[in-house]
Amino acid sequence: MSTEVVATAAISAEQPQSPSAPTQQNTVTKVNLLGMSRPQLEQFFEDIGEKKFRAGQVMKWIHQFFVTDFAEMTNISGKLREKLEKLCEIKAPEVVHKNYSKDGTRKWVFRVGEGDGSLVETVLIPAEHRSGLRRTLCISSQVGCALDCSFCSTGKQGFQRDLTPDEIIGQLWVANYSYMEDVPVADRERSVTNVVMMGMGEPLLNYDAVLSSMRIMLDDFAYGMSKRRVTLSTSGVVPKIDQLVKDIDVALAISLHAPNDELRNELVPINKKYPLAQLIAACQRYIAKDGNESSRKHVTIEYVMLDGVNDHPEHAQQMIKLLKNLPSKINLIPFNPFPHAPYGRSSRNRILSFQKTLSDAGFVCTIRQTRGDDIDAACGQLVGQVADRTRRAEQWKKKVAQQNEIMRSQG
Ligand code: SAH
Ligand code: SF4
Repeated sequence: MSTEVVATAAISAEQPQSPSAPTQQNTVTKVNLLGMSRPQLEQFFEDIGEKKFRAGQVMKWIHQFFVTDFAEMTNISGKLREKLEKLCEIKAPEVVHKNYSKDGTRKWVFRVGEGDGSLVETVLIPAEHRSGLRRTLCISSQVGCALDCSFCSTGKQGFQRDLTPDEIIGQLWVANYSYMEDVPVADRERSVTNVVMMGMGEPLLNYDAVLSSMRIMLDDFAYGMSKRRVTLSTSGVVPKIDQLVKDIDVALAISLHAPNDELRNELVPINKKYPLAQLIAACQRYIAKDGNESSRKHVTIEYVMLDGVNDHPEHAQQMIKLLKNLPSKINLIPFNPFPHAPYGRSSRNRILSFQKTLSDAGFVCTIRQTRGDDIDAACGQLVGQVADRTRRAEQWKKKVAQQNEIMRSQG
């Protein structure tokens, strides 16, 4: 919401109305405070003639005590609470489906518009860690995705639209609140320990909204998360990686998936625009910034294991060469199949021997555990049963039908 719009909303709510004039107040959309970063909220309070420090107070109520009713904000005067009630709201996106798995995984489907194509999903995965229980939330940044990676069900859905900051931060708010609903306001605390921008969409193609949301995640007046615990995952939008380095200090994950340009062009088409040499150079610039002072000590390399496609021993050797000058931790992701997917998951043995080659070469290389399968919450399944709405999805189905036809005719 721009300052201008905020100011207009404030003025129209305060202007005395003549009895016959249409009540402008009714036509004013309330300003949603949920997705506002501290500077934006400070500006908002100034615009409505209040002190800037109110921003921090309200942010704490929203993001640390999960309060949406201004009446509960006890350190704010009754007069200001009334004013805020008239002008604003605190509204998370609508949850249309939620599912809590036996293994602790939680999944939410949010409606962010009209129709089946306007659904996004968020998944929370708990795991015991040396430092205690980790709850990692996988957040979506767009409805669908334009980048069309060949192994990704979100890509097959096509791009619908960018999520707004309140829809992005709303996912974190809802996940935290799900543990605190029955807890008295004064005793509430933040439960989600880690965020990964690895849900639907390419976060760097919704840059401003994602940046503003990550600032709220790091802000001590909001979620106060450590910069190492907020990870942005990208398929490689190189100029935006450089922009990110300038704007915020968070962990970076690269969806690599192939160790040479020929294969990567096929699996991750944005590679045609920003080939591997450019991508690796951008990662090196990310690491170089601020040296050891920041969270940028390494890049996480994501590598989906596709049976017979990118899991050969020579691919592991190519990885070693490609990454030799980039401090990195490699995470092998067993492929999660979806209907009509043209790939299969690499066998356990194949994944283990790929891992061994990389570990022997000195890389930290882990295999992602698949979790939450019983609620369809595994990584890459984020669209779940959401109906494919786009032209591309239709084309995709046609292509699959044609291939099936060819295979049938070949006996
Ligand atoms: N667009 C961003 C973030 C969302 S995708 C990106 O591509 O990095 C999050 C991760 O899930 C990426 O590493 C992606 O490659 C992986 N992924 C997508 N589809 C998958 C599938 N079917 N099985 C396993 N991982 C998948
Ligand atoms: Fe988009 Fe990431 Fe899926 Fe590629 S893997 S289509 S960039 S969401």
